[in-house]
Amino acid sequence: MTDRYAVLGNPIDHSKSPLIHGMFAKATGQGIVYEKILVPEGGFTQIAETFRAAGGKGLNITAPCKLDAFAYADTTSPSAQMAGAVNALRFGAGGVEGENFDGVGLVRDITVNLGQAITGKRVLLLGAGGAARGALLPFMAQRPASLHIANRTPARAEELARIGSAHGTISAGGYDTIAAGAYDLVVNATSASLTGALPPISADAFTHATLAYELAYGKGLTPFLRLARQARPALAAADGVGMLAEQAAEAFAWWRGVRPDTAEVIAAITIPLN
Ligand code: NAP
Repeated sequence: MTDRYAVLGNPIDHSKSPLIHGMFAKATGQGIVYEKILVPEGGFTQIAETFRAAGGKGLNITAPCKLDAFAYADTTSPSAQMAGAVNALRFGAGGVEGENFDGVGLVRDITVNLGQAITGKRVLLLGAGGAARGALLPFMAQRPASLHIANRTPARAEELARIGSAHGTISAGGYDTIAAGAYDLVVNATSASLTGALPPISADAFTHATLAYELAYGKGLTPFLRLARQARPALAAADGVGMLAEQAAEAFAWWRGVRPDTAEVIAAITIPLN
């Protein structure tokens, strides 16, 4: 029987995961079936269990089910524990394993696809939700010169800095702690762009930046990216489409034992930033 995988979330119609994994499967010669499944409120565990009982091999998990998936997994990886969230599940002899590939996907997109080093650079991370939490350890593993986390609710940023402080220099606070011209990479891990909002950051944060990275994807030039480009036209601007493809490639490799190339997928799902 062909191995079955799926992505679970709500809403789910917009999900690019079936397209991405279909392209990966074709390119690597892996015979899989990949579906998308809508999860009604409170229905995550039952849907995941039914899928597993029917022989399903693994799941991708998107909003708002990542915390439910974390609770559902028998075992979780350090990256999932750090994020407090699971974005991929694998079903096997070892039970239900939970992983979180968002952070590693983000770092790989920045360093490999966009060719921007994190090592030795001054990083400003906006937001302290699940995506920022997941990015923390993969970022610190790159040994940036410094990492400053700014969040609308400063206490959440401060908590994150405390957790990550064993891994390097991390500072944190509200948006009023962002220093002018003090960052090489500025990463928007807030969900502000999903509603067309701009986090309260001023243009001078970008004065010396070489990259403005928006985790949201498929939104074109978001207010954050627009501000960054206006402030410093020479910087590279990117949205999270490469991160999406890279976290998917990590999950595919975890499930199938072969890591697909992402270039073709990124080209297929990129929406121009204009
Ligand atoms: P989350 O856990 O809900 O956290 C949301 C974060 O955004 C919090 O830090 C929140 O601040 C902040 N925020 C929300 N609205 C804001 C506003 N108007 N101004 C300033 N800050 C605001 O969300 P998440 O799961 O971390 O997702 C964050 C973003 O990453 C989303 O855009 C999501 O689509 C994107 N994402 C992309 C990928 C990918 O593969 N490309 C993967 C995962 C996530 P408070 O703490 O003060 O509430």
